Amino acid sequence: MFSPVSILVVTALSSVLSILVLVSLASHAIDGVSRWIWANVLAIASLLLFAAQNVAPAWLGVVAANQLLAATILLFYEGCNDFFGVRVDAKARATGWIAWAGVLAGIVYYTYGAPDVHMRVVVVSAFHAACDLAITGRILMSRPPERPRYNYLFVAGTSALGAIGHTVRGAIYAVKPPGETALLQPGPMQITFLALGILVLPSLCIGLVIMAHDRLAMRLERLARFDDLTGALSRKALLAAATARLARGAEDDRREFVAVIDLDHFKSVNDRYGHAGGDDVLRHFASIVSARIRDDDAFGRIGGEEFCLFCSAARLADVTALVERLRVTVEATPCGVPGGALHYTFSAGIAQWDGREPLASLMARADGLLYEAKVAGRNRVKALAEDMAA
Ligand code: GH3
Ligand code: MG
Ligand code: MG
Repeated sequence: MFSPVSILVVTALSSVLSILVLVSLASHAIDGVSRWIWANVLAIASLLLFAAQNVAPAWLGVVAANQLLAATILLFYEGCNDFFGVRVDAKARATGWIAWAGVLAGIVYYTYGAPDVHMRVVVVSAFHAACDLAITGRILMSRPPERPRYNYLFVAGTSALGAIGHTVRGAIYAVKPPGETALLQPGPMQITFLALGILVLPSLCIGLVIMAHDRLAMRLERLARFDDLTGALSRKALLAAATARLARGAEDDRREFVAVIDLDHFKSVNDRYGHAGGDDVLRHFASIVSARIRDDDAFGRIGGEEFCLFCSAARLADVTALVERLRVTVEATPCGVPGGALHYTFSAGIAQWDGREPLASLMARADGLLYEAKVAGRNRVKALAEDMAA
């Protein structure tokens, strides 16, 4: 039942299934997926050649089969570099393929020059162990820290297992080769390593699919979380963050504030510079604010040219000073648009949370102050005098 040929054929079939799943991800433009598909194509060819080793000539059943499998693992690694957007220069990329050519030279030498099955296993195992290790390292170094660990450690763990398996196999064949030598000769050693192979290759592919799905989930979450024009938090994410801040503020006895900010005469910006010019201004404004607030602050776009900033501070005067600094900076930093520099301003209303009121009431108070700032002539920041005294 566990004959080497059946194990090889089943593993080849699992690569067919991996290709079918990976192809479904190809339309999502996820870097690395196309290399992983090709890696599986090569794996299928290699595994079938290994399975036919008894009837195929050595250049096919040994040389080509080994080289295709070596290329498979190298492509998996290169795909991981692509997936994580790691820029690999031509020299580094060539290194992998030069090592692959070295394996080819070794296999040819130990097949035709000085036939030695054991040394062939040592050469091939060393290459696979190095590639598996490189995959583990790449994932551990490049995985996004904010994403669920399981989605990445699954592949890292699988390739680490592969690295250990190949290292042990290479070491055994280098030091004390077992009696059975031919790949298709059944024996505990062959079956053990083939079983490891049947585990590692499909598990690696499952893991890569999990990583690709996590990339899709990450894109969707980012889309829902951030306003795609300005990069500020979306309205939904901002209100969720604000609700969480107020709940936390009630526990920690922290002072929470909101500034509602609205760009002045924005309609006339659109009228003079077109909608695209208006969009440039919105991006320009958001980048100025984002660069000057703390990581802990929540800044988002609640609609059109209206933004909100939630922050905690010791006193209202500190928040007013911050928003006033933003106002002066925006006034003094024109936005470059086709046809010149566009000067614009904003008005803001700032309210302090009373420790109990709902978010809607806090925002309505800040909105009222924003309205006062507009009525008073725009390009100004308004906060309640009694709040300032607090
Ligand atoms: P005020 O000083 O009183 O705030 O005047 P305003 O012209 O800024 O205010 P109003 O609310 O009347 O106009 C807002 C304009 O913002 C109208 C709308 O066309 C424009 N707008 C809303 N969303 C966008 C957007 O995403 N891009 C661009 N370019 N314009 C937008
Ligand atoms: Mg406006
Ligand atoms: Mg408005």
